[in-house]
Amino acid sequence: MSLIVQKFGGSSVANAERVFNVADIITKAYSQDNDIVVVVSAQGDTTDDLIAKAKEINGDASKREMDMLLTAGEQISASLLAMAIEKMGYPVVSLLGWQAGFHTSSAYGSARIKRVVPDRIKKELDKKNIVIVTGFQGLNRYNDMTTLGRGGSDTSAVAIAAVMNADLCQIFTDVEGVFTADPRKVKNARKLDVISYDEMLELASLGAQVLNNRSVEMAKKYGIELEVLSSMTRKPGTIVKEAKKMEKMLISGIARDDDVARVSIIGVPDKPGLAFRIFSKLSAKNINVDLILQSVGRNGTKDISFTISQANLKDTIEILNPYVELIGATNVVYDDKVAKVSIVGAGMETHPGIAAQMFEALYEADINIQMIATSEIKISVLIKRDDADKAVSAIHNKFFSETEPINP
Ligand code: ASP
Ligand code: MG
Repeated sequence: MSLIVQKFGGSSVANAERVFNVADIITKAYSQDNDIVVVVSAQGDTTDDLIAKAKEINGDASKREMDMLLTAGEQISASLLAMAIEKMGYPVVSLLGWQAGFHTSSAYGSARIKRVVPDRIKKELDKKNIVIVTGFQGLNRYNDMTTLGRGGSDTSAVAIAAVMNADLCQIFTDVEGVFTADPRKVKNARKLDVISYDEMLELASLGAQVLNNRSVEMAKKYGIELEVLSSMTRKPGTIVKEAKKMEKMLISGIARDDDVARVSIIGVPDKPGLAFRIFSKLSAKNINVDLILQSVGRNGTKDISFTISQANLKDTIEILNPYVELIGATNVVYDDKVAKVSIVGAGMETHPGIAAQMFEALYEADINIQMIATSEIKISVLIKRDDADKAVSAIHNKFFSETEPINP
């Protein structure tokens, strides 16, 4: 007998038919003599709809009241799913986050899980019940309900798997797993059988929206293997696990991020300390800088360019404009029609020449590179947003052409 944690995202339980589809998946696993704990998200767009409802009443509602509202979404899906399982003749109980023992920090809207005390879950499993738990929520030290931030149900599932030492943690969603590129855009994108935590974290933060970042961090910390799979097709999905335990892929995937803007400070005097002063101004306002490029000094001045998220553009320009004069730079310019395209692969570390191959693909597609950044398992380039589709396809073809093996 195994303990299996199964998490179902909002699209998997969006309507009655899908609720019964999920109930079928759950009861099949239960019938194979397993203990089953299910974590469920709110149905379909429920969370967005609730936020819209709140705005109709009060655009400035307190975070506490927002959490009071949003936790209701998961309460609905959990109870409906339990009713479907009841109807199919299986023993089941649904629990809210606090009943399932989720203790969180007090930060409404972005609470952190502090600990999970799964006594009630264990008691229900001993009674042979299938246990359904509302994702995305817990209780803080004021006995108020909190939510974990958008997409937080993945983290709820991983937390239960970690604290109960589950044998398997399955994250059911509406895609068949993690792909080498966005399958809606790149027609020969392939599903990966396995990917490491670190690669998954890079891909998630680069905009491959399959798993919530915090859930992957937590899975990595506690060594929980995850399987990402589709509740619709029920085919084997992608396993996310420690890189040590797998044959490292040269390149696992290509991600694209449109939420970037490039800012350049032109004519910065070429002397020590200015980069420090500029970037500390931004960090003091919590503005996160991503790629950075400094030109070689010429005639006593240099240019400093960097990227930020679109939402920070206005603030950044407002902060820098008066400052530019103060430090004796010429002016600030920006470009918000750019995109960041990145390749991620744990095998990069030991294989030179990956960057050259990526740049060759871009050159062959006649795409100009504005900025470059590299880490051990990632290479990112900044390009014109209009070129991004073409860039992803060209790079994908370079690394995943039909003839070349994916695992050299
Ligand atoms: N229902 C919440 C959201 O939409 C939590 C989740 O789906 O994981 O963000
Ligand atoms: Mg959702």
